[in-house]
Order: sequence, then C-alpha cells, then structure tokens
Amino acid sequence: SPSDIPTLAQLYSSNDIPSPEDKPKYPVDDSLNGRISIWRGDITKLKADMIVNAANSSLLGGGGVDGAIHRAAGPELLDECETLGGAKTGETKVTKGYELPAARIAHTVGPIYSKLNSARSAQQLGSCYQTSLERCNECGGGSIGFSSISTGVYGYPIIDATHIALETTRKFLEKDKSISRVVYVVFSAKDEKVYRSIVPEYFPGS
Ligand code: ADP
Repeated sequence: SPSDIPTLAQLYSSNDIPSPEDKPKYPVDDSLNGRISIWRGDITKLKADMIVNAANSSLLGGGGVDGAIHRAAGPELLDECETLGGAKTGETKVTKGYELPAARIAHTVGPIYSKLNSARSAQQLGSCYQTSLERCNECGGGSIGFSSISTGVYGYPIIDATHIALETTRKFLEKDKSISRVVYVVFSAKDEKVYRSIVPEYFPGS
C-alpha cells in the first residue's frame, strides 16, 4: 500500500541513490511534502483508493497494463465498462476495482503519440493526468497510482511524458488538498531512472 512505499525524502536520503541535481522548475512547497512516490512494480498489486489504467477509447480492455488490470480485476470489470460508452482521448471514466486491492479504477485514454502533432499529443496526455486527478478528487481523494500513460504501445517518449505527468500533478496538488499520495508506478528500471531524475525538478524537497 502507498504507506509502505518510500516518500521522496526517504528515497533520496538513502545511501545507494545519488542526490539529483538541484535545478527545480518549481519552488519548494511544504504542502506537497510526503505526497509523491515512485514505485517499480505491477499496478494491479497496488492498494490505493484509485489506480489509473492506460485504456483505449473503447474502454473494453486491451493489451499492456489494460489487459493486466482486466485480468486481475475479473470479468465484472468488463460488465461495468460496457455501460460507459467509451471515452475520447484525454477523457477519464471511473469504475469499481472489483478483485483488485485498489478501490477504484480511473480508465483514461492516452494519445497515440504523433511526432508531427506533438503539441496536440502533449495537450491530450496532460488532460489524461488532469482528468484522472479530478475524478480522484470527486471520489473523495486519498491515494492514486498512475501507470505511465501512452508510453508503451502508444509510443509516447518516456522523458517527455514524465515531464507532462509531473507538471500536471504539481499544478493540481498545489490547489487540491484531498489527494494525500500520488504514486507513479513504473514497470521498467529505465522508466524508474527517468522518474527519479525528473521528479526533483517539480517536487523539490518533497
Ligand atoms: P499505452 O497503450 O497507453 O502506451 P501500455 O499498457 O502499452 O499503454 O503501456 C503503458 C505503461 O504501462 C508502459 O510503461 C508499460 O510498461 C506499463 N505497464 C504494463 N503492464 C503494467 C503493469 N502490470 N503495471 C504497471 N505498469 C504496466
């Protein structure tokens, strides 16, 4: 559960991880302390108030993390998803978590990355994070675990996507008090390194 996952202060104070460069894009904000974590693992194992699924516009399941979530949540998830009528790119709809340890699932539709229209892809990916955080707030807040939306089959470059994830979260959490913990769930060692190196720019001292 999120309380077992180290906060940034705990992460960066442990000896084996080099301290990141101090070049924050945002000022220190004590109200953000302890609210951000990076965790490498399977999001279907995360006990949180909400996890965020990288869905497709049908909202009826797919490959990657979407397939893993549907398998772990069980067939009742598909039954509820069939009532949702799909979603547009950048939109987010919520279901129950069923057999998952997570209480709810936010199904967000990431953009298929377009290099030619990267500004549009960026706007849409930002909307995925924004609307997921809004849905979490509407459901009472608490803890939310994000998968790295669009960075698998949908081809979004991981570094660019991470900046969008962190910037959107930073701006949201500055105003929101309902969300106690945001966990970035990374699946590979490479993605973990990317998150660890960029997080301090957006959450210095947090
Ligand atoms: P998209 O189609 O939005 O790119 P993918 O599922 O292909 O979605 O990939 C999104 C991210 O989810 C990738 O970083 C992938 O490695 C990761 N991922 C895949 N399975 C899991 C899982 N069980 N838990 C967490 N992350 C996962």
